[in-house]
Amino acid sequence: MHELSLAQALVEQLEQIRAKEHAGAVVSVTVNIGALSGVDRGAFEFAFPIAVDGTVAAGATLVIVESPVVVTCEECGQPSQPALDDIHCAACGSRKVRITDGRDFLIQSVELQEREGNH
Ligand SMILES: [Zn+2]
Repeated sequence: MHELSLAQALVEQLEQIRAKEHAGAVVSVTVNIGALSGVDRGAFEFAFPIAVDGTVAAGATLVIVESPVVVTCEECGQPSQPALDDIHCAACGSRKVRITDGRDFLIQSVELQEREGNH
């Protein structure tokens, strides 16, 4: 499953963030899934608890923010949010558009526990 390896990569990033912040466990993580990122939200939600099991992110809350595809028109310069199956400029109807958002799959924010250590 593609989403499982993505979730595992996410956990690696969380481990790095946690180490850098010298924090405790991961409480929650907000990820941004772009409409064109190719990530299936349902599959990712299914894979996440499997990937975090036994890691610093075990039991963490997953928050998913879906970002729409945004294009900028090469003809008139206007940005718009087209339907995925019919990408064109909403202002002038041109199909000469550049995709400017909606491709990303990334961590938007992470909530960490204060470290309660014995050293
Ligand atoms: Zn246009």
